[in-house]
Amino acid sequence: MLLQGKKALILGLANNKSIAYGISSCFKEQGARLAFNYVGDAIKKRVEPLSEELGGEFTFQCDVTDDAQIAAAAELVKEKWGQVDVLVHSIAFANREDLSGRFLDTSRDGFKLALDISAYSLTGICRAFEPLLHDGSSIISMTYYGSTKVIPGYNVMGVAKAALEASVRYLAYELGEKGVRINAISAGPIKTLAASAVSGMKNIFAHVEEHSPLRRNVTTLDVGGVASFLASDLAHGVTGQVIYTDSGFSQMGI
Ligand code: NAD
Repeated sequence: MLLQGKKALILGLANNKSIAYGISSCFKEQGARLAFNYVGDAIKKRVEPLSEELGGEFTFQCDVTDDAQIAAAAELVKEKWGQVDVLVHSIAFANREDLSGRFLDTSRDGFKLALDISAYSLTGICRAFEPLLHDGSSIISMTYYGSTKVIPGYNVMGVAKAALEASVRYLAYELGEKGVRINAISAGPIKTLAASAVSGMKNIFAHVEEHSPLRRNVTTLDVGGVASFLASDLAHGVTGQVIYTDSGFSQMGI
């Protein structure tokens, strides 16, 4: 098993359609130990049974907009585990009105919120958990093709993902000194809660199915497979990368 005994912290499980669920299922199959965050009581009610199903060791509250909650989470994980071998950041948010219509109409507050939760949080989390990371730890974040190409409707989230990917490169440079790796997986579109907020998603699924080299959309387990590799010691020379897991769609010119 690739991840036998590795302590993997999963941030961003909302339900069994979440990319974090696919990643966690693969991690469990590879022998990882798991723990999950939630945001608020509504998500807690959904995360706790899923954590039980996946053999999670504990769950904890952590809203990434709140530095105090991030610090408390790091303290709790330190008490429970001492260190973290794998940290998955599978978190994004933008106001629904900023995921349709014109990017030009994005408000200052909507822009700040999307960039704060979807991009800055990765840096905030890495800083808080830095003392728990060690030579060989692996951090994985989730991104999308709308960071480099225009996907109408993706709008401010495309800008947030561009910032997230750049953050991965800077964090890779600084954390690499300690032997900590960080990469992003650029997943093709998957039907999740977060994806349902983006207008025109239905057309995107059909387009990928028709035009990608593999002629299908990816699943959360496809992403989980790549995440398992990146989390494992097999990937110990890989950092600062954006790894596409998109049926090859991003390689098509026309
Ligand atoms: P999801 O809705 O299942 O997961 C999003 C998670 O973000 C939820 O668990 C939610 O609780 C969490 N979150 C939102 N605001 C938060 C906050 N303030 N603090 C802490 N957590 C917060 O959807 P998903 O599609 O699994 O999204 C996971 C990641 O994958 C996101 O970064 C998303 O942009 C990325 N992604 C998704 C797709 C897709 O098509 N679904 C494609 C590429 C990348």
